[in-house]
Amino acid sequence: MQELSYLLNHFGEEREKYEGAINPPVYQTSNFAAGNYDELVKRIKNEFDSPFYSRGYNPTAAIVRKKIAELEGTEDALLCSSGSAAISCAVMSQLKAGDHILCIEKPYSWTSRLLVQLLSRYNIEYTFASGKNTEEFLSHVQTNTRLIYLESPNSITFEQQDIQAIAQFARKENIITVIDNSYATPLGQNPAQWGVDLIIHSATKYLNGHSDVVAGVICGSKELIRPIFANEWMTLGAQVSPHDCSLLLRGLRTLEIRIQRSAESALQVIHFLDNHPKVEKVYHPFSKHYDQGDLTKKQLKVYGGLLSFTLHDADENKIKSFVNSLKYFLLATSWGGHESLVFPMSALQTASNYLNPLVPQHLIRMYIGLESPQLLISDLSQALENV
Ligand SMILES: *Cc1c(COP(=O)(O)O)cnc(C)c1O
Repeated sequence: MQELSYLLNHFGEEREKYEGAINPPVYQTSNFAAGNYDELVKRIKNEFDSPFYSRGYNPTAAIVRKKIAELEGTEDALLCSSGSAAISCAVMSQLKAGDHILCIEKPYSWTSRLLVQLLSRYNIEYTFASGKNTEEFLSHVQTNTRLIYLESPNSITFEQQDIQAIAQFARKENIITVIDNSYATPLGQNPAQWGVDLIIHSATKYLNGHSDVVAGVICGSKELIRPIFANEWMTLGAQVSPHDCSLLLRGLRTLEIRIQRSAESALQVIHFLDNHPKVEKVYHPFSKHYDQGDLTKKQLKVYGGLLSFTLHDADENKIKSFVNSLKYFLLATSWGGHESLVFPMSALQTASNYLNPLVPQHLIRMYIGLESPQLLISDLSQALENV
């Protein structure tokens, strides 16, 4: 991999092509004209990496695509209109009727919907299983298992899987592995180095980091990415607009310092919550309650600002008064932006009458943004007094 600061600031940019502009232009165009017949043929033939039509290739998108692939240590990447689009394209690309997916038990909610509501209609089977114990997890592999889906850590309760052990097994058995790496980001872990085939991110979160773009990315070898480009990605039309690509590029410039700030503040918040008498349990790879410390050491170079916790008093009204008392944690979903957030799972349960039964109903998820840790801790402290 290129040196990180070089990668974020310069790699993949060809300033001589656009008059030295520091910020690459937004190629806000749907199509590109060829100079003559032969050039047209050439462009059509090579839509994967030259401009013909913006659903296929756009120069603004190409810069971001190169940077993120390099960040993940993969040959290529495809930008998608959301993290969910990235997951759907990647997973669908590897399956046909009669196949089976083995998936960790608490994936991102729309990932489980893809398997349960959508792919099952096309006669694709699935099993959800805990990935904490590798042997137990792999015992769910069937003769028709074509894909193993990982999310390590997951983004609710942060269990990890032994990525290398699972990827090695899968490779031997000719099973494709896909991982949602949104939480760790490419700075935290690069699953390709352990043999994972396709690595997915919701770029909406840390990668963009400013809560103004919804986007996703699929990273992998050219051998895997090319057919995804030609089939699922072009057919489903899950592209990112040039303008959003430009915003994503701007967000990437500060990826390293944003994650540093968010993670350092999170550590202080975790320490505060871990020692607060009203707090029952904190969920985060660096909480004292976390029981997979060995995997954290082995796999996670960077920990994130996303965490969950429960209160001893699990009553919905108490949770309501806690979140209503917070002044600086905004009551919203998502994470990875500049702003700190709080999201009580009980609201999801009340609104939709559904929550994964493996997620504690009184779980409160929190994201630590770029505000000062003092401001956030004093806010938490006063809100906990109201419980
Ligand atoms: C948000 C999120 C997604 C989905 O990303 P979108 O950009 O919202 O479609 C997938 N995985 C994880 C872990 C997420 O947090």
